[in-house]
Amino acid sequence: KKDKKKKKQIEIDQQQVQANIRQILHGQPTKTKKKKRKQREETQDEGNVLEVTEFITLGELASLMGVPANELIAKSLQLGKMVTINQRLERELIELLAAEYDYEVSFVDVKSQLEEEEKEEEVVEDLEYVERPPVVVVMGHVDHGKTKLLDYIRRTNVIAGEAGGITQHIGAYQVTLEDGKKITFLDTPGHEAFTAMRARGAQVADIAIIVVAADEGVMPQTKEAISHAKAAGLEIVFAINKIDKPNARPERVKQQLAEMGYLVEDWGGEYTCQEISAITGQGVDELLEKVLILAELMELKAPINVKPKGYIIEASQKKGLGNVATVIVKEGILKPRMPLVAGVHFAKIRIMFDERGNRVEEAYPGTPVRITGFESLPDAGDKFVVYDDERRAREVAQHRERLLREQMLHAKSRLTLDEASQKAAAGELQELPIILKVDTYGSLEAIRDALLKLNEENEEVALKIVHADVGQISESDVMLAAASNGIVIGFQVRPNLQAREAAEREKVEIRTYSVIYDLIEDIKNAMEGMRKPREVQVPVGIAEVRETFKIKKVGTVAGCYVKEGKLVRGGKVNVVRNGVVVYTGEIDSLKRHKDDVKEVKAGLECGVHIKGFNDVKKGDVLEAFEIVLVKPGEEVPKGIASVSDSE
Ligand code: GDP
Repeated sequence: KKDKKKKKQIEIDQQQVQANIRQILHGQPTKTKKKKRKQREETQDEGNVLEVTEFITLGELASLMGVPANELIAKSLQLGKMVTINQRLERELIELLAAEYDYEVSFVDVKSQLEEEEKEEEVVEDLEYVERPPVVVVMGHVDHGKTKLLDYIRRTNVIAGEAGGITQHIGAYQVTLEDGKKITFLDTPGHEAFTAMRARGAQVADIAIIVVAADEGVMPQTKEAISHAKAAGLEIVFAINKIDKPNARPERVKQQLAEMGYLVEDWGGEYTCQEISAITGQGVDELLEKVLILAELMELKAPINVKPKGYIIEASQKKGLGNVATVIVKEGILKPRMPLVAGVHFAKIRIMFDERGNRVEEAYPGTPVRITGFESLPDAGDKFVVYDDERRAREVAQHRERLLREQMLHAKSRLTLDEASQKAAAGELQELPIILKVDTYGSLEAIRDALLKLNEENEEVALKIVHADVGQISESDVMLAAASNGIVIGFQVRPNLQAREAAEREKVEIRTYSVIYDLIEDIKNAMEGMRKPREVQVPVGIAEVRETFKIKKVGTVAGCYVKEGKLVRGGKVNVVRNGVVVYTGEIDSLKRHKDDVKEVKAGLECGVHIKGFNDVKKGDVLEAFEIVLVKPGEEVPKGIASVSDSE
């Protein structure tokens, strides 16, 4: 496999050479630059395509097309829409109005517009590349030894054997191996922080070390970590840890990995794997060597004669130093006194430190450094770009702040299924990433099979199952959806509180279903661009089961406390246990003290029996719901806040 990889890369290099020759023969520069367009929106004239952001106002659209705003307002009225000159328009209306003047519309999002701007500012005739060290992130299940491994490597700097090692935690560090080769580690273990950065657009790492404890084996977060690493396009290396333990069973871990489709190298597979102990250090040298071998195959290179760019890994305020940020350089050579912008934050670098606290005068690609000089605190995951002159950098930061404010005002969600469907109808949907969480392994298989079949049937849209597992919807699922611009699909499961908050914050859509057929139909329709109304369960009451009683002739009665909304006799109810729906039925008996009642409101206790269900348990949550028909484009009624399990 590795040979093959190498060969493929050689072939690509050949192509590159050919391309270079062609360019030289035709006298073209290696990288051509479009004329910098200051007011890019005014100069969109290629064909009859208007490039607009989703935040365009009627007035702006009018001036773009060179028609009087009044005329556009009149046209809108004819189309049945009342709009004012400063009002921002819906996608559909923009398209309709443009069509009136024979324009086609191409929507650009703010982010890609900013990226374009960056590219346009850059003029480089011949890019000069250097090899760069791999950036490695350590992931795995909790307590499997991620922190210990990072500590061990940091403390010993294993092979170079530098005395004292690295004492500071700055979010990333670099170690040098005997042959002088370097590896950069992200010093925040786990996939959560990593994916949060990725959700901000950062592509920081190249390789993920997935730590699996040899005594416990593959656990839920091991699978999660693998999905996160894969979704980020990282190469994966398995480190089977804790082999010093008497009950370590590394072969069983390899077996489990094989069952998941990850055949490790000593089992004849393609995945790099090393048995280690993060306590004794056994195998760690070998692990690092293997990481380097993999990195070599990846041929990691970066241009250095460009304006430096990279990502913020961590930022905080430090006494005496002001705002301090750890960054990893992606391209170019970063030096003190350079002006830069990260997100909306401006900095003129004052001092650069390495992870050992030494001052440095330049940082090459793949290197982490701490910099001071930020006027405000940037966020982890922000991309930074250096500018030639300070004024321009400040301008860019301000411009971005304005755009960002606009974006917040019109807080647009990430992809929703409804939008996906709209895009599919317009032929603009290439990919539909989903994160799937379900109640049992049986339904996981059934749903996955049905979805894969949809994928085969539909050639235009690729349905991508980024992660699929059993259990309630967690924050990590939501962040993975945010980073993949995908949707979380739940079958008979509910998000926990953190997941709901994250979904709200990151504007990720969570859709939950209770019938497999409905789930598949909805996704199928979305992929085909069909927008049909669907039935949605809207929660109207939440009650906690605090006690259960066996009552003759009735069955098990749940002694409940109604937390929110109300329970109604004859109403539908889900029984939710650990975020998973274990039963759906009807309330056939509802009592306050000894009396039958029609409904019980929040703040009161009651006795509930659910028709045909006598397995209710203390700690269960009863979710009373109504079924509402939601048309495409309509908001799903929120009802009361839905179930959030105390985990
Ligand atoms: P994390 O949650 O993955 O970061 O796990 P930690 O690094 O905090 O380790 C969890 C526990 O496992 C700690 O008590 C460590 O001392 C222990 N541990 C980690 N690696 C090893 C190892 O290689 N051998 C043994 N015996 N214990 C380990």
